[in-house]
Amino acid sequence: MRRLKTRRKGEARRNFLKTVLAGAVMGAALLAKGERSEAAPAEESLSALPGGESPLLRMQRELQRAMKKPIAERNWVMVIDQRKCVGCSACRVACVTENALPPGVTYRTVPEVENGSYPEVKRFFMPTQCMQCDKPPCLEASNAISPGSMTKRPDGIVAINYRKFRGRRAFQAAVKACPYKALYYDDGRFFTDGTPAFQPYEASGSFDYGELWKRVKGQGDPPIGGGRKCHFCLHRLSAEMLPVCVTTCIGRAAYFGDLNDPQSLVSELLEKNQAKVVRIRENRATEPRVYYIVDEPALAAAYHT
Ligand code: SF4
Ligand code: SF4
Repeated sequence: MRRLKTRRKGEARRNFLKTVLAGAVMGAALLAKGERSEAAPAEESLSALPGGESPLLRMQRELQRAMKKPIAERNWVMVIDQRKCVGCSACRVACVTENALPPGVTYRTVPEVENGSYPEVKRFFMPTQCMQCDKPPCLEASNAISPGSMTKRPDGIVAINYRKFRGRRAFQAAVKACPYKALYYDDGRFFTDGTPAFQPYEASGSFDYGELWKRVKGQGDPPIGGGRKCHFCLHRLSAEMLPVCVTTCIGRAAYFGDLNDPQSLVSELLEKNQAKVVRIRENRATEPRVYYIVDEPALAAAYHT
């Protein structure tokens, strides 16, 4: 009896393997003929672009290419395919970890947006962060109070000088000017405040703007006591690594690259999806560097009035 069961198990396994192999052979044949199955996505899939290359590997290669150019010739942009965002917030968590962010500071958020009224209601996720605007109103506002506190880099990133961007006044001015709610104040809190033990990870520090910044409990040294925001993971770019929200995205909704490179994936995506590309609150004339690919451009625009 036991032998019969074993034989049946063996047969079942062989049949299963045959089915898998048959599928693989058929898939390979279709690929060889350059055909796609009906179920395959029309554009880039989660793990591979047409031709089989991983989008992450391609972007990594393009990043390395861009980093060989002078800084003024790099033109960093982020492209978010909103249609693929599943709202998991993995990017947000990864960002908090990567930048050792304290309570109340979040460089990346994933709000769920509702548009329309019953019964024509739509809900969708819209990952957002500092847009690294080309005409950043925050910069003028904060610099009017603390000169040199914010600068625009030649590669497009809007940078904060933690030593100069100090105090609530400069911060409030920048917050008021920013249409994207992208700035956060580091008020010196720690996640383990009020718990029996301070955890070492909270003292690990961040590498914002090319320096290691250690937050020390009970002291107000920068970045404590000033504004903070996304910087496209500048420290990772310097090490030829993609921003962490891009590498973490489980929906492959986030892309990053050099818009000056016509061969880059971001250039290709923006070109291919021209009719579906929006930038948030374009009417504010801030020239944001984060582009969204959406199914209904009118809906996304409505979110950002
Ligand atoms: S999103 Fe806000 S903080 Fe970022 S550059 Fe634009 S105005 Fe400044
Ligand atoms: S990780 Fe990707 S899919 Fe998940 S919320 Fe962020 S952008 Fe959306």
